[in-house]
Order: sequence, then C-alpha cells, then structure tokens
Amino acid sequence: MSDNKKKIILTGDRPTGRLHVGHYVGSLRRRVELQSDEAVSDMYIMIADAQALTDNFKNPEKVRENIMNVALDYLSAGLDPERCSILIQSQVPELTELTFYYMNLVTVSRLQRNPTVKSEIQMRNFETSIPVGFFCYPISQAADITAFQATHVPVGEDQKPMLEQTREIVREFNSTYGKTLTEPEIMLPEAAACLRLPGTDGKAKMSKSLGNCIYLSDEPDDIRKRVMSMFTDPGHLKKTDPGKTEGNPVFIYLDAFCSDEHFAEFCPEYANLEEMKAHYRRGGLGDVKVKKFLINVLLSTLEPIRNKRKEFEKDLPFVYEVLKKGTEAARECAAKTLSAVKRSMKIDYFEDDSWIRSCRQIN
Ligand code: ATP
Ligand code: MG
Repeated sequence: MSDNKKKIILTGDRPTGRLHVGHYVGSLRRRVELQSDEAVSDMYIMIADAQALTDNFKNPEKVRENIMNVALDYLSAGLDPERCSILIQSQVPELTELTFYYMNLVTVSRLQRNPTVKSEIQMRNFETSIPVGFFCYPISQAADITAFQATHVPVGEDQKPMLEQTREIVREFNSTYGKTLTEPEIMLPEAAACLRLPGTDGKAKMSKSLGNCIYLSDEPDDIRKRVMSMFTDPGHLKKTDPGKTEGNPVFIYLDAFCSDEHFAEFCPEYANLEEMKAHYRRGGLGDVKVKKFLINVLLSTLEPIRNKRKEFEKDLPFVYEVLKKGTEAARECAAKTLSAVKRSMKIDYFEDDSWIRSCRQIN
C-alpha cells in the first residue's frame, strides 16, 4: 500500500512511433530522475495504445508495432522495471470502464473548448468528421490518471489543458459522489526550452505525427543530417551578421541539452552557453560551428541510450515480461480505484446487502 503523503506518478506516451528528443526533455528525463526520489512511492508508465487507436483506428498494425519500440526506448533511456510499472493501456479494462462513468461529468462544449483537442483536430484534418473516440480522449486520460490515484503527472506543456480537464472531472466526481479520487498536479519541465521542444523544421512542436523529429535511437549520421538541415535565424546570412538566439531552434536545442561540461569537452573557447550566445548576437559566429557543437552534444547524450537499446533488442522476451508484469501490477491498482468509484456511485449491487434489502421493501 502506498503512503498517502507520498507522490504517485502516472504518465505515458502514445505508441505511434519511436520516442524522440522532445519526449526525452519534456518528460522521460524527469521520470528517470523521479525513480530515485524518496518522496515517490509508485510510478506507472503507460503505453497509451487505446488512445493511439483513436486517430489510428484504421492502422492497428502501426500501434501494435510501436508498443515494442516505445518499451525499448523507455528501458534504454533508464526506466527501471524494478522501480516503475510499465503498462499497456488496452490491457487494463478498468480504465475503459472508468472512462464510461466519467463521460457523464463532462459536457460536449467543454470538450470542444479544450485547446489540445482543438489543435490536434486541426493537425489531423478532423475538422469535418471527428471520430467520437478521439473527441473523448481527454476523458480517457482522466481515467488513466485517476485509476492510479496519481498525485503528479510529468508531461510537456501541450498536456496542460488535459490535466486541467482531469482536475475538473475529479472535482465534479468528488462533489457529486463523495471524495473518492485524487486531484493530480502537472509536473512541467523546469527549463522553458523543454516545455515544448520545436521540430527540426522549426514548427512549434516536435511530434511523431509531423515527421520533424530526432529520435532517441537515430544513428549518428541521421542526427548529423537532421541538425545540419535545421532552421536558424533567417536574418543571419553571413557569419559576420549579428544573429538572434531567441526563437532560434538550434539555440533552443542547446538550451535543452547542453551543459558547461559539453563546452569544456567540445568547444572550450566558451565557458558556457551564455558566452556562445553573446558571440552569436554580436556577429562573427557562423551557424555551422553552432550546429557542429549541437551535433556533438546530441551524439554524446544519445549514444548510451542507443547502445543500451541494441542490447535490449537482443532480449525481447525480457521486454515482454516487463510489460506483462507492469500491466498486472497496474490492473491490481486500477481495480481498487474502480471498486471505490462504483461504491461511491452506488453501482456495487452485488457487494452491497442493503441493495437487496431495499429491493424487498419495494415488493
Ligand atoms: P503524437 O504525434 O502521436 O501525438 P507526440 O510526439 O505528440 O506523438 P505523445 O505520445 O503525444 O507524443 O506525447 C508523450 C509525452 O511527451 C507527453 O507528455 C508530451 O507532453 C511530451 N512531448 C511530446 N512532444 C514533446 C515536445 N516536442 N516537447 C516536449 N514534450 C513533448
Ligand atoms: Mg501528442
């Protein structure tokens, strides 16, 4: 049993592709740190296949294949199955049942106003025909979070409206049926650059669905090509021109990834990023040099992850066991919450003697 004062973590990813560096700085890196935080009692990491199916329902093969990809990325990035439960969402039917009951607590207009739903509908060209399942996924996300009585949810900034919607559902449930569910808090990355890492194409968000990613498992040559083709400041045409660092994707990536140690190792003429930025701003520092530094930073960050992945790829039965055990542990926890929810809603007929007594009174 978890100590009530301790943190319970729930977060996850859609198995729509391999994980990218946006996932890493937005949430994955934080999860790995939380594993050794004494204040954390339980951590559940969910591979959200049911959610991925809401906009990939015609392509279940894609979702199926990517479950293993995401699991491999988790383990290679340092998630330790001894310290967290990695689960497959669709294999915890309690989550679907909770979703169904929470649907009564949310209005259609509230879902329509959810900014994440709005932008994702636009991104997928769903404006004229939104599948009901996709439209309702904020509700299923509330089920995922509350099923584990999560207190903290480490995610990127795009998930803020989702968390707000979950908190509303929890408040509505607790005030209607009595205090049963825990209201979760969002845990955003500390550095502004990590809140929503842009794509290599300069688009606002690196996203599997937009194909503008550097994947955790990319080979060094792919990383080099991706970085060399990145946008920088369009006004910085010649090396001698003064350049902008703000809003410049290459510098945003450096903000997210580099440390002073990286400078000592790869670019000792600057002590830190501030010095490099200052040089770029006054002119005299070329994009190629900055990009080469970024390539070195990314290569050194991603190399251990890529190497570990190659090891795990040789032992897929181990990964299978991790998923199976993690899902079993998750089911046990979700079942407890579902029972509590049904008890609060008074739909626990076969566990409640007073129900049969009240039926007799009717006759
Ligand atoms: P899809 O395109 O299928 O929606 P995605 O790339 O947006 O995929 P998700 O699985 O939706 O990835 O997101 C998983 C987690 O990673 C969420 O917590 C999300 O906030 C975070 N995340 C995703 N992309 C970024 C990003 N570019 N920057 C920071 N965090 C991100
Ligand atoms: Mg997404």
